[in-house]
Amino acid sequence: TMASLPKTMKGVWIEKTGGTEVLQYKEDIPVPEIKEGQVLVKNEFVGVNYIDTYFRSGVYPLPHTPYILGREGAGTIVALGSNVPDDLRLGARVVYMGQSAYAEYTPVDAKSAVAIPDSVDAKIAAAALLQALTAVTLIREAHPVQKGDWVLVTAAAGGVGLWLCQLLKAMGARTIAAASSPEKRELAKKNGAEVVVDYHEEDREKFTKEVIEITGGEGVAAVFDSVGKATFDSSLAAVRRKGSMVSFGNASGPVTGFALGRLSAKNVKLIRPTLFNYIYTRDELKQYAAEVWNFIEKDGLNVAIHDVYPLKDVVRATEDIQSRKTMGKLLLRP
Ligand code: NDP
Repeated sequence: TMASLPKTMKGVWIEKTGGTEVLQYKEDIPVPEIKEGQVLVKNEFVGVNYIDTYFRSGVYPLPHTPYILGREGAGTIVALGSNVPDDLRLGARVVYMGQSAYAEYTPVDAKSAVAIPDSVDAKIAAAALLQALTAVTLIREAHPVQKGDWVLVTAAAGGVGLWLCQLLKAMGARTIAAASSPEKRELAKKNGAEVVVDYHEEDREKFTKEVIEITGGEGVAAVFDSVGKATFDSSLAAVRRKGSMVSFGNASGPVTGFALGRLSAKNVKLIRPTLFNYIYTRDELKQYAAEVWNFIEKDGLNVAIHDVYPLKDVVRATEDIQSRKTMGKLLLRP
């Protein structure tokens, strides 16, 4: 089956970390070979995630160089390695999380790929998977949200943020959505947020005060904070007694040097989760993915797609997500 594949492909790689100038769009990258337990996917859509910027800039270490960025894609299986589960067949439509997705072809560990149900578009699957799974695992495991809970979501009009707003609404929780512009706050509201607030970059105390007032003086049962450094203190201050501080991202920079004793002021639980550790086994991935498809099919949850750019516009895509211009999901098309 490999015989019908081209020798080279389009892709984006980096040789060192840095600004967007290190992103190299190339048309002559060798088509990768697959190992045991892998499938080769011809990507139809590739998801842009904020994490891609951490690998490019050096916030997270590169596994090797040159390195093809990109953690998520959807497409068709065009080659099979040995020892691959039966539901991953040649020609099957799959969506995956892994590495090196900013390319025409990606070798994917079978463990990280799931079949796309017939009723779901490849575009929707690529746009949904990583961010929706993040949101689902956060509300089920990082802080199991209860009906009626007040919950604070930062970057609420972003990819993960809009999923959190929709899922929390679907399960009967009450969401306070923080976002930086009126358009973003409106979108968060349309996606199920009960109250929307500005983060007031110059006056974070005002932001915390507003959140506490909305909750009748108590604070929220949980904060899902993806902004990191810039909002950590104001988010923690908005948590109620015995609530949870879920810090799951670094959009403004990583949180460092936290004094554990601060948690005792309100017996707050602090967690810093990654999606990867919630979907470590293929069974876990399949279970949570099924939950995502179910939310899309039965509860009518939707994926706000910001835009689809051709892969060669990777610099524009990166600049847009970093400069807070995107609302919902940005996709690339190889
Ligand atoms: P988003 O679409 O949410 O884009 C990032 C958003 O962060 C911006 O739109 C912006 O919204 C907000 N933001 C706040 N401060 C800054 C800043 N200084 N620079 C840039 N953006 C800022 O991205 P994703 O949905 O892909 O990811 C959201 C977050 O969740 C990221 O931090 C990501 O790393 C994290 N994540 C974590 C995972 C995990 O496993 N732990 C898995 C997936 C995502 P606004 O303008 O409204 O502030």
